[in-house]
Amino acid sequence: MQDNNIIKFLDLPDIIATEIISTEDRYIFIAEAKKNHIVCPQCGNITNKIHDTKWQNIRDIPIRGKLVIIRLLKKRYRCPYCHKRGIPEKYESIDKYARNTKRFDKCLAKETVSKDYSKVARENGLSYTAVNNAVKKVIDPLIEQQLSKLSQLKAISIDEFAVLKRHKYGVSITDPINRELIDIYLPAKRMI
Ligand SMILES: [Zn+2]
Repeated sequence: MQDNNIIKFLDLPDIIATEIISTEDRYIFIAEAKKNHIVCPQCGNITNKIHDTKWQNIRDIPIRGKLVIIRLLKKRYRCPYCHKRGIPEKYESIDKYARNTKRFDKCLAKETVSKDYSKVARENGLSYTAVNNAVKKVIDPLIEQQLSKLSQLKAISIDEFAVLKRHKYGVSITDPINRELIDIYLPAKRMI
């Protein structure tokens, strides 16, 4: 497979794969960051001097039923201008210290909507804790965002609307000042 095709197959904006190994149950992408330099956080100069490297396995969304592992060559840089050493790379698609790509965490969180955590863990070859952490990572910022939005509310308006004309009603909560919908409560399915 040509390099370009491997990169397209991996489809991450900041990581390039140079090789792909296919085994019975997994695809292993040998990969590194697309950028070969960083901006020094201390002096702001650009440096491409490598301090050290290490391999780390990062999990990604399965492809055709096989696990996907990105074997990533993580580089740390040194700055020849201010002599700072061990400056880590930053990735758009992987959080600091994370063992999963961000898109894999999102995918796991989605799966837990219809399946229990143990099943998602088993199907993805992960521990229960790993799935729990992935879900927390995706959901926590959303809750935070919602809470900060709610704390800025000066007024709320609660209205009833018909789901089934003259029979079942839902409730909408809106922010009347900014004219924004906050939440909707529908009657339980068995009641409709
Ligand atoms: Zn520097």
